[in-house]
Amino acid sequence: MSTAVVHYAAAALSDRGRKRPSNEDAFGFSVEHGVYVVCDGMGGAAAGEIASSLAVDEVLRLLTSRAGDEAAPLEQAPKEVVEQAICAANEAIYFRAQRNPQLSGMGTTLVGLLTGERRVLVFNVGDSRCYRLRDRRPDQSGLEQITLDHSLVEEQVRIGRMTPAEALRSPLRNVITRALGTQSCVTPDLFELEAEPGDLFLLCSDGLTRELSDPLIESLLGLDLPLDGLCARLVNAAKKAGGQDNITCLLVRAES
Ligand code: CA
Repeated sequence: MSTAVVHYAAAALSDRGRKRPSNEDAFGFSVEHGVYVVCDGMGGAAAGEIASSLAVDEVLRLLTSRAGDEAAPLEQAPKEVVEQAICAANEAIYFRAQRNPQLSGMGTTLVGLLTGERRVLVFNVGDSRCYRLRDRRPDQSGLEQITLDHSLVEEQVRIGRMTPAEALRSPLRNVITRALGTQSCVTPDLFELEAEPGDLFLLCSDGLTRELSDPLIESLLGLDLPLDGLCARLVNAAKKAGGQDNITCLLVRAES
């Protein structure tokens, strides 16, 4: 492995898709602070939009502006910092829903990335995903799903009670088993990785992964385009494939 300093570049795009009346996905990032977040909200009326944007705002605020701390959060105690930020975002949504009956039951998924120089921390709640594309031998897939979905069907697949094909067709495929805002406390999964120059991280909502297979996502990410061009290709492909749900993708590239 090279010892070159790694920098990061990012781009993101969110789209209502072709069937939904509004966009309940949200994203936010700060390359300067190394924080990247995608959320997919749920709930009646405007509740899903409120939940997802509250989560993005809270997590970004807490991970970018820790009073008096000049160092990036990842250089300190990253896991605790992320868990605290997610806990605070969860409480903000949960208590807002408790105060307003119209927002009752609102919640959101969250997938995020925290970058230090080389260390990368991926965290998730729900079924929004993080993938990493890394150059491999031509006969090997370079795309790896980092997160595990907190969804009923994916958990059935993992313990061998359902096949991936059955999961795709299941009427329970929308049921997620962990979300922000629906309970007083939530714990994210955390994945600590080492980035190499050239690594491309994709954070996305299920509106992308329900429409596009992993091999198709990999081939689109391999196109020789700037990051915003890749985001547009991914979103357009998901819309062309049906666009049943809101579609969001956030790309982060490690560069030497
Ligand atoms: Ca969705």
